[in-house]
Amino acid sequence: MTNTEQDRWSRVKSRLRTTVGEDVYTSWFARMDLESVHDESVHLSVPTRFLKSWIQAHYTDRVLSCWQAEMPEVHRIDLTVRSAIRAAAPVKEVAAPIEARPVMRSEGRPAELRSFATAPVSANHDALGGSPLDPRLTFASFVVGRSNTLAHAAARQVAEGRRGDPVMFNPLYIHAGVGLGKTHLLQAVTWAGNSGSERKVLYLTAEKFMYGFVAALKTQTALAFKEALRGIDVLVIDDLQFLQGKSTQAEFCHTLNALIDAGRQVVIAADRPPSDLESLDDRVRSRLAGGLVVEMASLGEELRLGILKSRVAAARVHHASFDVPEEVLDYLARTITHNGRDLEGAINRLLAHSKLNNQPVTLEMAEREVRDLIRPQEPKRIKIEDIQRVVARQYNVSRSDLLSSRRTANVVRPRQVAMYLAKTLTLRSLPEIGRRFGGRDHTTVLHAVRKIEALVAKDTALSEEVESLKRQLQE
Ligand code: ADP
Ligand code: MG
Repeated sequence: MTNTEQDRWSRVKSRLRTTVGEDVYTSWFARMDLESVHDESVHLSVPTRFLKSWIQAHYTDRVLSCWQAEMPEVHRIDLTVRSAIRAAAPVKEVAAPIEARPVMRSEGRPAELRSFATAPVSANHDALGGSPLDPRLTFASFVVGRSNTLAHAAARQVAEGRRGDPVMFNPLYIHAGVGLGKTHLLQAVTWAGNSGSERKVLYLTAEKFMYGFVAALKTQTALAFKEALRGIDVLVIDDLQFLQGKSTQAEFCHTLNALIDAGRQVVIAADRPPSDLESLDDRVRSRLAGGLVVEMASLGEELRLGILKSRVAAARVHHASFDVPEEVLDYLARTITHNGRDLEGAINRLLAHSKLNNQPVTLEMAEREVRDLIRPQEPKRIKIEDIQRVVARQYNVSRSDLLSSRRTANVVRPRQVAMYLAKTLTLRSLPEIGRRFGGRDHTTVLHAVRKIEALVAKDTALSEEVESLKRQLQE
């Protein structure tokens, strides 16, 4: 691919990111690659069939118009599923000298960087129909810091367990925002668990679970189902928030119960806590919350610096001359605050740039190369519990008063204010909010929201109170 095509593709991706928003972009487009451009048509690829059909059904027009904004002559987008082989067998690519072949992948990521860990590939894992694993995502390359100490320790514990050991916490449920290391940790568990020991660890994304595992199980008899489950010692499921559909969830619930009851370990990652997985039913939610639930907070500056250093060290395995001065690392750690993916992207760009242009990395070059990765801080994600806590404190009632059925004026008003804030400051639905306020009906929530809206419009004291609560929550 030429540099011009590469640049265009970067701009198309930025456009797409802006049109669909950060969350949608990371969910559906982060793994989309540009294969080629021919006159009127652009060939793109994604790693799974599920992504392909989803993007085709929902985003074809937008992808096309983002291309047309760059290249008006484009009239067609071909989307294909790229074979797993490219991702799973990076070893050969590494052997090729960097100058001899086009090195830029779609994210400006030289193929070499894709493989620095040398964990043994598990035949087990493939035979069981697991999702592809990235050989770089191991414990060795995972940097531990304040925000992920507990999650890391729990993951290690799980990975080191032996067949027949008592299971300490089940399921282990890890949640965190995008790019904070969930997939890294889960794949590390899978690599470590499958290496050497007699255990079988199966890593599945929720989408794979929906479309592969469940389908395979459905075609078998109940007996075969149990047999298949018996073979798995640790089931690892990534991105559980994508699990959709009633029958899939029933199947998931069934699998979860069967495994836990049989003393097998389940490890799950999602972008939110179990209580916020709105589409799951109560039983599954409480089963999920019944093990160990750990949150990984956003990466602190020190951890970001650690991740950058480990990335540079990894790159230096293949590119000994690649050197990133301390001041550049400090600059990156200070300014790229968003997530681990951007840190990785930054190092890859510096590597590509310094290799292609044969120039040492300088602060000036870094500032230029990573400009678009520096994004304004995301607004804080406010939780319903925080709202309840802050409101209770403000009105001098307890949180359980807010959730109780008491109807005295001193609790009713604060409760309504809290519901109003939950509706305006979070993305939770009315039924979800009702559920989180002691199992109230959604019409009660709606009534509260309308009531407070009306009051705020004419009651300055209340309006100031609400503003002050908002400020406290957004700090
Ligand atoms: P998530 O699944 O939470 O969205 P990933 O696990 O894909 O995030 O992490 C995004 C990128 O950041 C990956 O390249 C990952 O290796 C890196 N990363 C995140 N946290 C860490 C960490 N603690 N140590 C090393 N790399 C990390
Ligand atoms: Mg992930």
